[in-house]
Amino acid sequence: MFKSIRWKFITIYFLLVFMAMVIVGVFLINQFEQYHLGVVRDNLTQIANSLRISLKDMDWQKNKEDVQENITYYEKIGMEIYVIGRDTNFTIISSTNLSYLNENATEILEPDLILSSFNGDPGEKDIVPKEEGLTSSKNMVFPLYDEHSRVTGAIYLRQNLEEIYNTLDQSINILIRATILALFITIFVGYFIAKSVTGPINDVTIKAEKMARGDFEQVVEIKSDDEIGQLGNMFNYLMARLKSVLQEMSNEKQKMDTIITYMADGLIATTMEGKVIHANPRALEMLRIQEKDILEKHFDETFKQLNERLTIEYLQNSPAKWSGSQMIEMEYGITLRANYAPYMNEKGDLDGIIVLFQDVTEYEKLENMRKEFVANVSHELKTPLTTIKSYTETLLEGAMENQELGKQFLNVIDNEADRMARLVRDLLQLSNADYQQTKWDKKEVDLNYIVEKAVLNLSVSAKNKEQELNYKGLREGVSVWADENRIEQVLLNVISNAIKYTANGGCIDVSLEETQNHATIKITDNGMGIPKEDLPRIFERFYRVDKARSREMGGTGLGLSIAKQIIDVHEGMIKVDSRESGGTAVLIELPLLQEKMCN
Ligand code: ADP
Repeated sequence: MFKSIRWKFITIYFLLVFMAMVIVGVFLINQFEQYHLGVVRDNLTQIANSLRISLKDMDWQKNKEDVQENITYYEKIGMEIYVIGRDTNFTIISSTNLSYLNENATEILEPDLILSSFNGDPGEKDIVPKEEGLTSSKNMVFPLYDEHSRVTGAIYLRQNLEEIYNTLDQSINILIRATILALFITIFVGYFIAKSVTGPINDVTIKAEKMARGDFEQVVEIKSDDEIGQLGNMFNYLMARLKSVLQEMSNEKQKMDTIITYMADGLIATTMEGKVIHANPRALEMLRIQEKDILEKHFDETFKQLNERLTIEYLQNSPAKWSGSQMIEMEYGITLRANYAPYMNEKGDLDGIIVLFQDVTEYEKLENMRKEFVANVSHELKTPLTTIKSYTETLLEGAMENQELGKQFLNVIDNEADRMARLVRDLLQLSNADYQQTKWDKKEVDLNYIVEKAVLNLSVSAKNKEQELNYKGLREGVSVWADENRIEQVLLNVISNAIKYTANGGCIDVSLEETQNHATIKITDNGMGIPKEDLPRIFERFYRVDKARSREMGGTGLGLSIAKQIIDVHEGMIKVDSRESGGTAVLIELPLLQEKMCN
């Protein structure tokens, strides 16, 4: 409590007033004493002078009574006067104190003063005894001369100073009491003055403490325009600014948190010491790791096994330094691209690294498919071209002369040109559909009729392979909303595949059924079938189980892709069910026309 400014103020006031009172008191008492002693001195000097004049022409050794008479008067005014003769005994000739008459003056009075006066020097001495009971006095001595200016004696005057010192003691007493009173008043007034100064400061301090605890609703009441008022004003301004800045920061942080939490990419932030300070939910999901596990572990510990180039230890020694990109192949078939960059502190020093994870699995897959597709197209075009080129060269080199051989060669060239044309046509069809360039001529068609037509179309091919191609249709028409030619193309592709991949003498069954809202076409063969592992990829462009065989049969590897694309546009479904050497069943589902469904 005594450390507070209030008490410091009071102490300072107290000391100031105390010092002032002591200085004034000492000065006053001193002056008072000097003044009174001066008055006594003047008084004694005056009396001595008048006595010296009256005693001058008198033979006072002989007229002791006259002398005694002269000084008796002064007894009444409380003064002691001694006339001392110039003899060896320093005899007191007359005195206001009759009991001292004829005594040796040096034994009663101050001897040094008496001796000096007989040498012609007047003297003065104040006696202020230290012991109690003794009285203080002023002693003055003046030599007496005869007409030849010889010292004949001395007048010794003694004035009791008790009264003056009593008055002085009383004055000191009064002054001490006045000082004590003044000090009490000082403490009292000082307390209120200090309170008026420290009160607002305390108010600001208390409110600043509340502000530090996060309560920004504090307002300091301004009671004056002085420095303390300005302090309060400044505090209020500071509070308002701080509140708005913190609000802005909190809004920004919230925005940032929301963005980081819901962003499609994963984000991890680590310090240079490897302490992971943030990992958003997406990052945890991508890395399949628990938040507490990643936060507890060193950054390098988590990432070393995923890609050792993505560790602080590696980056510290790598020339490319703190920003770049690394790929991570996760065990569970996901590919992540990790882009990393450093972040700095306010001094511009490296503080840590932020790593952004992107799931590029799909992108990688597409990229691989694109590469594979380009390689496939090039290969598919190159093979017939090489054949055409070599046969043409052989013809030009003279094979033409042999008509039979020439015709055979030209047939091969024709077949290969057809295959190229088919390939280009199929590719164009796929690409047109990809880019929505295909014009679909959709209308109400009878599916029964289309299947029948396709089966009829291919019956010659089946016959050539001595295969049985059966169609089990429906008596009445099955109405679907479709592009007739495209659906026919699908059926031709699928049925011709069944013929192609079924040995001679095999059996192919085509059926059409109608369920509640779908028409289902089923094409079943008892051919070579498709191995289980190839089934999921059967609809990919250029995917073939046995490339050589397919090519030999005139296939392009695009038939099923085109079929699926067409069926998808018709909002239908195509599915292949097969077993290696156990035949294949292709299921095509198309939605029935709405009106029909209503009936
Ligand atoms: P292709 O022009 O090679 O026939 P498709 O896209 O029509 O191309 O078929 C892709 C691959 O699927 C074929 O190469 C073949 O290996 C396999 N396939 C398709 N249909 C059948 C089937 N009915 N029986 C056995 N394999 C089939």
